[in-house]
Amino acid sequence: MTLADSSVLLVGAGGLGCPAGRALAQAGVGRLIVADDDTVEGTNLHRQILFTEADLGSPKADVAAERLVALGASQAEARRTRFLPETAAALLDGVDLVIEGSDNFPSKFVVADACALHGVPVVQAGAVRWGGWALAVAASGRGASHRTCLRCVFEDVPSGPALSCELAGVVGPVVGVLGALQAKLALRLLAGEDGGTLYSYDGRRDRLRATRPSPRTDCPHALGTIDDLERIEYVPSSASA
Ligand SMILES: [Zn+2]
Repeated sequence: MTLADSSVLLVGAGGLGCPAGRALAQAGVGRLIVADDDTVEGTNLHRQILFTEADLGSPKADVAAERLVALGASQAEARRTRFLPETAAALLDGVDLVIEGSDNFPSKFVVADACALHGVPVVQAGAVRWGGWALAVAASGRGASHRTCLRCVFEDVPSGPALSCELAGVVGPVVGVLGALQAKLALRLLAGEDGGTLYSYDGRRDRLRATRPSPRTDCPHALGTIDDLERIEYVPSSASA
């Protein structure tokens, strides 16, 4: 499969999805699909680099798709929706890889579980304040053929309030670094390389560390115990907010 024949789904057109999508469009990925149900807001413009002030109030998915075509993607499609247990199958249809750039852990786990069930590689990332992480996950199977996934690393949606960029803020260039890193990891996965590397970025000390956490033998995707997304409760980490 060549890059021009590849389809990549961007979950979220925010501080991670914008730079990742931009890099993938310019690298020659043929088809990009943007899933986001938000509109462009002024407070996020510094890190959501596909948008300008002229786009305020417009659907992010539509504007991002338009910009990605202008940047070189031969096809870009907007989906004004969130990635949820009930929308996952339709969003993943015909997709070769997912870039997950949502801003909360419940969404990250829905994407991780859906990609594991559908056998789609995914590059996940998160950032708060001056730091963040990125994880490339190859398509894998059960048992010994399971490869390191989000549940191997973080196990489950954090209980109690987790820091989110909405509450704690994030430094624009820090998400820019992680979004660009996601694009690079996506290109390697599309070229057939294995995932499994977890990157941690410390923007205060300018340190990028790569580790290779082993797949957990008791990961629910290694055991095959997650077989229906709609039966799992994805509890928001800030349910009361
Ligand atoms: Zn796992």
